[in-house]
Amino acid sequence: MILDRRPRALAPRVLAAGAIVAACASCAENHGPAAGILEAALAEPRAYGKVAYLADRIGPRLNGSASYDAAVLWAVEEFRRDGLERAWTEKVMVPRWVRGEERVRIVSPVDASLTAAALGMSVPTPEGGVAAEAVEVESFEGLSALGERARGKIVLFNRPMRRGAGPEWGYGAASSLRHRGGIEASRLGAVGALIRSIGTARYRLVHTGMTGREDGVPSIPYAAISEEDADLVHRLLAAGETVRIHMTLGCRTEPDVEQANVLAEIRGREKPDEIVVIGCHLDSWDLGTGAIDDGAGCAIVMESMRIVRSLGLVPRRTIRAVLFANEENGLRGGKAYAETHAGELGRHVAAIEADSGAGRATGWGVAAGAGGEEIVRRIAKPLSRIGAAEVSKGGGGADISPMRPAGVPFLLLRQETEHYFDYHHSPADTLDKVDPQDLQRAAAAMAVMAHGLADDEATIPRQEPEAPKAR
Ligand SMILES: [Zn+2]
Repeated sequence: MILDRRPRALAPRVLAAGAIVAACASCAENHGPAAGILEAALAEPRAYGKVAYLADRIGPRLNGSASYDAAVLWAVEEFRRDGLERAWTEKVMVPRWVRGEERVRIVSPVDASLTAAALGMSVPTPEGGVAAEAVEVESFEGLSALGERARGKIVLFNRPMRRGAGPEWGYGAASSLRHRGGIEASRLGAVGALIRSIGTARYRLVHTGMTGREDGVPSIPYAAISEEDADLVHRLLAAGETVRIHMTLGCRTEPDVEQANVLAEIRGREKPDEIVVIGCHLDSWDLGTGAIDDGAGCAIVMESMRIVRSLGLVPRRTIRAVLFANEENGLRGGKAYAETHAGELGRHVAAIEADSGAGRATGWGVAAGAGGEEIVRRIAKPLSRIGAAEVSKGGGGADISPMRPAGVPFLLLRQETEHYFDYHHSPADTLDKVDPQDLQRAAAAMAVMAHGLADDEATIPRQEPEAPKAR
């Protein structure tokens, strides 16, 4: 869910793993815990095994599903197997949305089946589906301009996401159409909505994701179609044809279900009440197996805890791993954490989120008070060996965002994301997209940063407290 694009050409060259181990072994004494962490991390890589288990053995982890519960059980046991005795769960009530039958066809002027998937939290179509004329827009402004012409129609939001683009053509602009497009189309009397898949590969993939609802506005069925299919609709409309679409969605929302966040801690030796949180989300969409979103982030977080524990390092402050529930369709895990731990947030000295896939780690984004970036830069310095020492402004993540009003400093593990949106939320989010060595280096980087922040004499200046943002 995190957009972070930086060109591949700017990335520093990375040494082969063997070279790193040799280099660190000879300089560990002079460079302290960070060198030891890097050495241990690269000598005994275990991160890939963790994401492999989540993706291949447990599979998709949609909120409210039995497989999400299986992931929770596995994560607690895995933490304990890794020597983290302080591992536990905290209750979260999550929405349970279930995908059903889904069929979308052009029925006139041609008969063509479209590759489609309901957006998460969409309502179903009425019995027999919905058939209507399609109208196409690229933006909310375009929708407003349609006005009455949207009434009784199926609105196609046809806005491409471009690889490496700025905000206008990036994930943010497209995902706001996914989130609010159905609501705004319904206000104009549309009977259904479709969105061009938000992705950057052209393999006729369909990318799901959450869509919103609003009290007082009737919800209409809303599905994604592949980019190629959106192009077909566009070409027919551009040729002056009246395009009729029939869509059938059998998805449904059931009552909320009790599930859990998973937590594990390495208690600090001097200031155990001061806490560095490292987080990821354990839930995933249902089309793929949640390998890059966010099995990889969970492997990074869990492996970084294992590495610190395996070295017997006990930092000044506490490091707490949080595997959040329900990032994808509700953020209830992040909200529950901030509520349950409200009394502690003033002593949360930093929160880091790993939710940018499995790409090579390049550095850190920081959102903190003045001087925060300098502290992070100093702690990250040893990571120049693996090309992960770059520090820049701008950190955070969906799961940790509910801690923002308390002024908790945020860090983001920056990773190469050139291909992230090729697969994100699609059936192609599978284990083969994870490179074991890149993943292990990301875990090593997380371990160095989490331990460094927890052990440093200084703490990062806090962000200005701010009211929570609507999501
Ligand atoms: Zn994610």
